[in-house]
Order: sequence, then structure tokens, then C-alpha cells
Amino acid sequence: MVKQIIFIVILLATLGIFSYTLLRLRRIFKLTRSWHPINYPERLKRLFIIGIGQSRILRKPLVGFMHALVFWGFMVITIGSMEMVIDGITGLERSFQRLGGFYTLIIFTGDIFAWLILILIAAFIARRLWLAIPRFKGVEMKKRSKTDAYLALSIILLLMISLIGINISYNQATNEEFAYLFPLSGALSFLIPVESAYVLHEIFWWMHILLIFIFANMLPYSKHFHVFTSLPNVFLSRLEPLGKMDHMPEIEKEVRLMLDPGAVVESTDAAPARFGVKDTTDLTWKSYLDSLTCTECGRCTAVCPANQTGKLLSPRKIVMDVRARMNEIVALPFHQAQEANSKSLLRDWITEEELWACTTCNACARECPVNINQPSIILSMRRYLVMEESAVPNSLATMLSNIENNGAPWQYPASERESWMNNIN
Ligand code: SF4
Ligand code: SF4
Repeated sequence: MVKQIIFIVILLATLGIFSYTLLRLRRIFKLTRSWHPINYPERLKRLFIIGIGQSRILRKPLVGFMHALVFWGFMVITIGSMEMVIDGITGLERSFQRLGGFYTLIIFTGDIFAWLILILIAAFIARRLWLAIPRFKGVEMKKRSKTDAYLALSIILLLMISLIGINISYNQATNEEFAYLFPLSGALSFLIPVESAYVLHEIFWWMHILLIFIFANMLPYSKHFHVFTSLPNVFLSRLEPLGKMDHMPEIEKEVRLMLDPGAVVESTDAAPARFGVKDTTDLTWKSYLDSLTCTECGRCTAVCPANQTGKLLSPRKIVMDVRARMNEIVALPFHQAQEANSKSLLRDWITEEELWACTTCNACARECPVNINQPSIILSMRRYLVMEESAVPNSLATMLSNIENNGAPWQYPASERESWMNNIN
């Protein structure tokens, strides 16, 4: 009973902190622009193929499979964690056992996954420490990113050690009655004396559940928030072909009338406060969700032709800057956060040089394992520069004025478009 009370108090404190974080996030999302997802069947398909199937990450067979194993393992182990919470509240022991064969399957595979994840996470830490992987470097990869990565990997390592400890000590405390549940840990029961098995089980149990509670409250404040957001982000990701530019309903009427003065157009709402994106609050909530989901893996930057040819642009930095700028806004008093302040995403975080370096090849969006759309942020910011500030590189200014005046990127009017044929015999 005492254990139950202590557990419930800690659980309530954990949920309290987590609820505060969710309310804070709700407030932040309200600062962004609206966006409405459509076509749910297609989204579900993507969720299963890219999200749960990890199809993108598996493009690199070895490292991809290692990452996918960790992801799938966590999905299985989470069911065991849910059982621990129920056990903690009710005071029961292994309350999911009544699920029969399904339970056996979950705990059996969970034990194998715990060992696999332990080994793989140790390998990931070693790789970060001793191998100079180019995609882990970049101007945007500050000390905080590295500390974040090591901290999360260390907590996962401890989670697996405590889970294995639970399995070994439980197996020993129950005189191997449930040895069939622990194919790997069961073989190590001899490491724990029978008389201390129960105490050790309690220690590992508390260690595991407290780590889960701490980790869950840390995640939203780190790059590992993707543990929660990656599946929703994949579900909500862009369905249109990557090369297709989003149209701007707010100027559609004017464009249609320009092309065809007799066109029948619906009256639109009042003009938007801003064309394109100058600051993070001009982005849609989906683009902000993208920034929260970025794992900082660097796969996008590694395939970016602009970055690889020495340009300033790094698509990972663009996404990270969106998140960092929003954190900066939220740190301000709320009334100031909603009003313009002296800084903005454009120029204070992302320079014009970075934006114009993009070739819009979409390689970054194609490579991202969590379906983030980096070019949409870049294009929206370019739109702001062009439409609100007329700030375009000289090389583009001529082309844009030709399109405006001649309906074509060249210097000649449409009526002279066929003149080049005059001298052909
Ligand atoms: S779309 Fe732009 S940012 Fe993305 S890979 Fe291509 S050049 Fe780089
Ligand atoms: S945007 Fe995607 S590919 Fe790029 S670092 Fe973030 S998660 Fe990785």
C-alpha cells in the first residue's frame, strides 16, 4: 500500500509537469498560422510505411536497420511500461498476464529487444565518440545538440540496463517459474543470489519507472521530442508531389484576374497580415511541428547540393532555426510574443544568402526520415522577400520583371515570341 501511494504521488507529479508542457505547447501552436490536413486514408498509408515501417531510414541497410530495431523495440517495450504503470497504481503484479499468449509474446520479444537496444545504443555512443561522421557536424550543431544526444542515449542505456535487471531478478525471485518469458536475461539469473532477488527487483523496477517519468518530461525540451512527434508528423506530412509549389489563395484572385480580366472569382477574405514568412509565427503549425520533430540527424544536409558545394545553406539549420526562434519568442512576455519584436527568423536566424542558395531540388525532403518539408519553409521565406520587400538577387530581379511585363522570363514581349523563326529558310 505504501508503495502504491508513493507511486501515485510520483505519477501525479509527472502528469502535472507533462500537462504544463502540453499547455505551453498549445499556447505556442496558437501563435502559428492555421493548416488543415485532408485525405486521411493516404495519411494512414504513409504512417504505416514511413512511420512504423521505417521505409526511409532503411534506405541505408545497415545503419537504417539498427535505427529501425531501436524504434520497433521501443514500441514493444512501451507495452511493458504501460503494465508497470498499471501495476504501480493497483498494487498488482504483472497485471497484463491475463492477456495470455499476447503477453508472452510481448515480454519475450521485449527481453530480446532490451538486449538489442542496449548493444545498439552503446554502438551509437561509440560511433559519436570515436568516428568522425560528417553529418553530425555543422555550424548548427552547437554544444547543446551534442549534450542532448549523449544525455538521451545515456538515459536509454540506463533504461535498458534496468529493464534487463528487472527481468533477471524477477526470473530468479520466482524460481524460474516464468523463465520462458526471458529468453536472454533468464540465462543470467545465476548472477543474482536468490535471497537478494526480490530487493534487487524492486530497485530495478523503481529505477526503470523513474527514468521513464524523467525522460518523458525531458523529451519535449530536447531534440528527442521526436519520440512523441515523429509518427504524428509523418501522418500529417505533405501529400502533394514535392516539386509542386503551394499556391497562395490570398493572391489567387488577383492573379486570375490579371491573366483573364473576365474571370469569375469568388470574393476572398481580407488581405493576410503578411505575404510569405518573415518570422516563425508566420509559418503554419505544421511547419512548426516539423521543427519540433527534427532529430538533427543531418541526412538532409548530407544530400543538399548547395551545402555539398560549399554554400551557406544547411536544411537542418533552417529547421533548427525555426525551433530556436520560437523558443526565443516564447521566452518573451506573452503580449510581446504576439507583437512584432526587434528580431525575426529572417536575417537574425536565417540569412538571405542561405535562402537563395537553395536549388529547390527537394533532396532534403525526400531524405528526411520523419517527412519534414524543409523547402516549404525556404520558399515561404523567399516569398516574403519578393512580395513584401522586393529583395531579390540581381540575377533574379530581371527575370521577375520580365515575367511581370512580358509574361515570360525573357526580355521580349509575347508578340515577338516567334520572331526567331523569321530568318529560317
Ligand atoms: S531543396 Fe534546397 S535545401 Fe533541400 S536539398 Fe535541395 S538545395 Fe538543399
Ligand atoms: S530535417 Fe529531417 S533529415 Fe534533416 S536533420 Fe532534421 S530529421 Fe534529419
